[in-house]
Amino acid sequence: MKQRVTHSSAELAIFGGDLDFREPLHVGRPNLGSREAFLARINDMLDRDWLTNNGPFVREFEQRIADMVGVKHCVAMCNATIALEIVTRALELTGEVIVPSFTFIATAHALQWQQITPVFCDIDPRTHTIDPARVEELITPRTTGIIGVHTWGHPCDVEALTEIARRRGLTLMFDAAHAFGCTHQGQPIGRFGAAEVFSFHATKFFNSLEGGAVMTNDDDLAAKMRLMKNFGFAGPDNVVYIGTNGKMTEVSAAMGLTSLESLEAFRQTNRGNYEAYRRHLQSVAGLRLMEYDDRESNNFQYIILEVDESACGLSRDQLQKVLQAENVLARRYFHPGCHRMEPYRSYYPHAHLLLPATESVSSRVLVLPTGTSIGSDDIETICQIIATAIAHADAVKAQLATTPEIAIEDALSSAPAHPIRGEL
Ligand SMILES: *Cc1c(COP(=O)(O)O)cnc(C)c1O
Repeated sequence: MKQRVTHSSAELAIFGGDLDFREPLHVGRPNLGSREAFLARINDMLDRDWLTNNGPFVREFEQRIADMVGVKHCVAMCNATIALEIVTRALELTGEVIVPSFTFIATAHALQWQQITPVFCDIDPRTHTIDPARVEELITPRTTGIIGVHTWGHPCDVEALTEIARRRGLTLMFDAAHAFGCTHQGQPIGRFGAAEVFSFHATKFFNSLEGGAVMTNDDDLAAKMRLMKNFGFAGPDNVVYIGTNGKMTEVSAAMGLTSLESLEAFRQTNRGNYEAYRRHLQSVAGLRLMEYDDRESNNFQYIILEVDESACGLSRDQLQKVLQAENVLARRYFHPGCHRMEPYRSYYPHAHLLLPATESVSSRVLVLPTGTSIGSDDIETICQIIATAIAHADAVKAQLATTPEIAIEDALSSAPAHPIRGEL
């Protein structure tokens, strides 16, 4: 990083200034725990010669997570997408299931993969979570369930959704991929609905390389998922059910156990980063940094900036280009909404008409880098770039209009050093 700070527009890289970061700053760079602890576990695993199939690390991991969340069952799997497929099948969801469109594509794909129709629901523009008032309007005789997504770790309106599901005889479950270590009304997320699904992917708050888990208090559901994730094997040579391969490996569980030991350190780092962003950005007009509710536990894994073009003079996409030119690879989550991605775009070409809040939020949100790999100096510099660009919005706009399209996707795909998402 350069020692000086960026104040005049001429210092911005889009005007030919030096770029501020030699190495690209990624969103979702992994939070890593103790290397020694991880390698020690890998040695134990090799000594035991037990690599997968419900090994001791997987069982320890499941027990630790179940205890932390306070649910009877944690069923660990190879990733959250397979976990979503398995739990929706085990819950016997069919026909139509109501989901937000403002989510990672896996929420929708896990349903469509099984020929269940994801029916896209709009969000509350304040919380970015599924809007219960809109859910009710989408229920048809074919509807069997609702999947809420705790976007950015912000809990859905669990009470309203629970009431709708009860009254209309629907199954309610949650995609809690972002929400490990978060609470709703003081209760850990993972306890709500028929089941909740966590992701432990490398980009998430806490990772097991790849991994996911379903949390439930339902003994029958847990037993069914344990069969399903292991080809339906009830014992040696005894297949009693249709299944797939959703097992978590011992290496993943070893990483998960190691990450768990650093959970509070990750949380403190993220919290410090979030507060630094808040301090530096609070006086910049036209930006809203999404708040975390102080009465709850949060993992602070997502720094969500909403860019109001009419107030700050730059669109979200223009601001992204300015940052990109400095090697700050801010991302547009979830842009476009699932309803604008295939196959849904072709199936439901008019879906956007029912999703005004999703359309608006997905055009405004910019996700900034955080996590254990960046420091407070980096954050100060990122915020100075943003403030400088907005202070010189007209000049920046004009400059961007004359420069050839800065190929954001190209830059991302040519930086494979970190497990960033292809097209999140
Ligand atoms: C990351 C994510 C998933 C998928 O998780 P994987 O473990 O990568 O399969 C699903 N839903 C949401 C909301 C996510 O962010």
